[in-house]
Amino acid sequence: MATQGCPCGFYNDHVKTCTCTPNMIHKYLQRISGPLLDRIDIHVEVPRLKQDELMSKSSGEPSIKIRARVRQAREIQQARFTGTKIFNNAQMSSKLTKQHCKLNPDAEALLKQAIEQLRLSARAFDRILKLSRTIADLAAADSIGVEHIAEAVQYRSLDRKYWG
Ligand SMILES: [Zn+2]
Repeated sequence: MATQGCPCGFYNDHVKTCTCTPNMIHKYLQRISGPLLDRIDIHVEVPRLKQDELMSKSSGEPSIKIRARVRQAREIQQARFTGTKIFNNAQMSSKLTKQHCKLNPDAEALLKQAIEQLRLSARAFDRILKLSRTIADLAAADSIGVEHIAEAVQYRSLDRKYWG
């Protein structure tokens, strides 16, 4: 799913200035309901690239390395769910989520703080937990750490900015 940030399409743009009023932007974004957002795992804002970013040769982690990490994360999940009817973290029931997404005290404190500050729904809470499990799997980490929770919370940016 993709959407513009406002009716004119230049919200947060560095080249053109958005001409919408805050009220227009609010109305526009309310077309997307909170319950619908809850059903989407990851939200990210994608601003227009600047000229020097387009020309830049260094493009982060090479895709061959990323592919290897994704494959490894899939294998971890397959092993985790052997003997069950599911095969990935997103499919976990609340019982399985509790079992596989145990948090250390620091990670739990950060998640609680995020839930309170962003006034997230129970479903968004669930999404963050499962997402943090996947982020930990991609790092081949046995347990979910503060950094994994922090990254998962970032992927709920629309909850934070416009809803709740
Ligand atoms: Zn606008």
